[in-house]
Amino acid sequence: MTKPLIPFQLPSIDEDDIVLVTQAMRSKWLTMGKMVSDFETQFAQKVDGRYAISTNSCTAALHLALCALNIKEGDDVLVPTMTFTATAEAVLYMRARPVLVDCQKDTLNMDSTDAERKITKKTKVIIPVHVAGLPCDMEAIQQLAKRYQLKIIQDAAHAFPTKYRGIPIVSLSDATCFSFYATKPITTGEGGMVVTNDEIDAKQMKILRLHGISRDPWSRNLSPHYDILEAGFKYNLTEMAAALGLSQLKKADLFWEKRFRIAQLYTQELKMTPEIILPHPGHLTDQHAWHLYTIRLKTNALKITRDELINILLEKGIQTSIHWKPLHLHPFYQKNYGFTPHHFPNATEVFEQILSLPIYPDLKEQEVLIVCSTLKEIIQKYRL
Ligand SMILES: *Cc1c(COP(=O)(O)O)cnc(C)c1O
Repeated sequence: MTKPLIPFQLPSIDEDDIVLVTQAMRSKWLTMGKMVSDFETQFAQKVDGRYAISTNSCTAALHLALCALNIKEGDDVLVPTMTFTATAEAVLYMRARPVLVDCQKDTLNMDSTDAERKITKKTKVIIPVHVAGLPCDMEAIQQLAKRYQLKIIQDAAHAFPTKYRGIPIVSLSDATCFSFYATKPITTGEGGMVVTNDEIDAKQMKILRLHGISRDPWSRNLSPHYDILEAGFKYNLTEMAAALGLSQLKKADLFWEKRFRIAQLYTQELKMTPEIILPHPGHLTDQHAWHLYTIRLKTNALKITRDELINILLEKGIQTSIHWKPLHLHPFYQKNYGFTPHHFPNATEVFEQILSLPIYPDLKEQEVLIVCSTLKEIIQKYRL
């Protein structure tokens, strides 16, 4: 396949990023050094959290958070069906059961009413995912957590920077997990971070993150002695990755402003097309990360399906995507948990309608306009 004219996602990498990564390489201290430590400190400050532990993925961060909350075989964890598999996969690492929850059609976020229906004595944790960076109804989720004594882990893979009703999200849960995968709001290539305000959980996650070893690896402690305190994991970040993270962090606000402007432009250009349902913009005092701009197509008003539309767009050089095919429609979750489409009517319905348009800091205004005019042309041609 030839390279699409307008790719769906692209990381923003500039000379400053390259200089800092190169500096890490030249220092010959390649892992768990000052870059990692500085990245954690500065990230914690940026999200208003007390403790930040960097990991080599958000999936690893979710795993560490579940470990800190002592999730065990036989426990249930509420996970939205409208998410990436990593959210549920981390639960499986604990031999616990991911209990899927339907989404709201307008926000694509977890439906707290359906979540409450699925709570039993076995339910220990709820993992809201802020889809596209639109904050979930955290008030409702916190009420559930209080009423049924559940812990909350936020999957904030898309949600940076994000505020819920003016509040930085990390204060709303026991742990919050971020992703620095190539296409996420800021990137380290692969990487993640778990943020908590609980000192004991933070200490445990830090130890588990690197083989359960007792001492701080970057204390440059020259003593050859250390103790293994737990059966840990190899989840740490390299200095090169942390250097990229530090450099990206400096540009996070600028990245967000660019995404916000692109979202506004899409909204302005597409709001008069009746076959398109625009993404929920969030509450007035929310900060939406705009990691994705996901529209819904009124497919019953069109002669083509969403997938046919995707192919026509691709032929015209515009790459789009789907977030997501809900977990309950995937063979693994169907085979192991017996889910059927009608168990999750909202997610099943919106799955046929959702279409994520290109959005990233380097996307030009002109390109957004091309996406919009092409999309409107196709819709006009195929409207019923
Ligand atoms: C990308 C993503 C993850 C996984 O992040 P990694 O850093 O690749 O492990 C988890 N949850 C959601 C919602 C994501 O989009």
